[in-house]
Amino acid sequence: MSPNTLGLYVHIPFCARKCTYCDFASFAGLEQEMPRYIRRLQAEIAQKSETDREIATLFIGGGTPSLLPPQLMKQILSSLHQHFRFLPDAECSCECNPGTVTKEFLAVLKEGGINRLSFGAQASQPRLLQMLGRIHTWDQVAASVALARETGFDNINLDLMLGLPTQTIKDVKETLLQALVLSPQHLSCYGLIVEDGTEMQRQIHSGVWALPDEETERDMYELCRETLLENGFAQYEISNFALPGFACRHNVDCWRRKEYLGLGSAACGFVGSIRYQNPPSLTDYLNGVPAEETFISPADARFESIMLGLRMMEGVSEDAFYRMHGVTVDQAFGNKLQKPIAEGLLLRENGFLRLTRRGMDVQNRVLVEFL
Ligand code: SF4
Repeated sequence: MSPNTLGLYVHIPFCARKCTYCDFASFAGLEQEMPRYIRRLQAEIAQKSETDREIATLFIGGGTPSLLPPQLMKQILSSLHQHFRFLPDAECSCECNPGTVTKEFLAVLKEGGINRLSFGAQASQPRLLQMLGRIHTWDQVAASVALARETGFDNINLDLMLGLPTQTIKDVKETLLQALVLSPQHLSCYGLIVEDGTEMQRQIHSGVWALPDEETERDMYELCRETLLENGFAQYEISNFALPGFACRHNVDCWRRKEYLGLGSAACGFVGSIRYQNPPSLTDYLNGVPAEETFISPADARFESIMLGLRMMEGVSEDAFYRMHGVTVDQAFGNKLQKPIAEGLLLRENGFLRLTRRGMDVQNRVLVEFL
């Protein structure tokens, strides 16, 4: 991606039902607001398009973008292409929830330039899907992926979850095998985070569910790593695995601290020394409440490069760091590098600064050294 290109993130805040673990800015039962939301989104697209920068990546996330009627998705994609110039090889992703995906919807995505799909699959066991409040079965995951392939999509991600209450190593193994049968190009394996205010948190606090212990969760993660590496995937970020050439460019650009525009309620964007977030409340967004902006100081920007870059296996390019910040890593952090390097948590080689396997396990501890 040349420095002059931009990423785009578009947020679709509607869901069929709220999952028990979800604290994203997404809402169930507000389908009647969809046409109004799309009109407001189109206005924002037009307003933010005053840029001559080309678009290298687009990510439509949510929420559940695949819950939109195909006609409304078509309107969003037309607006985006009308107002922005996309690179010919732009990576354009859309999140889909199995159980909401139709042939017509996928055809609209394909026609509108979407070339990568991400399915929230999570786990293959009915009891786990039910506990998570997911609206789909594993059969629907398989059917959605098959439909996507029929429509011509050949870059497909499946999201899986680890560390769930009652989940066993055997469950994880079974899910991985079921996922591999579907031949995805990309797999994201996320550990459950129990977020404040979620149904999952209430259930855990009231003793309905207990989380697996840390060691079991680590074993689950290792099982994912080993199984996916054995099957030709490369790990390129803590939770992300891809076949060669299929790493998600949108996310990699975010971790490399490339600029992107966020469109839609709750969407975040980052341009120059400003990060902004649109109002998370649907009503506020519809009523035109402006985004909240945060100034990023040069010191904050340098820390962000380290914090985001160290998530990736490749780490932080020292050249790119210098080009972005005008100072070397040594000038920015001086002797703060020495301790984690001496402890075997951080490696400095071939112009990159990256975490070791052990460093990955204690990432936060390493980051504290840079503060
Ligand atoms: S589908 Fe995604 S965004 Fe919607 S409630 Fe579930 S986890 Fe949250």
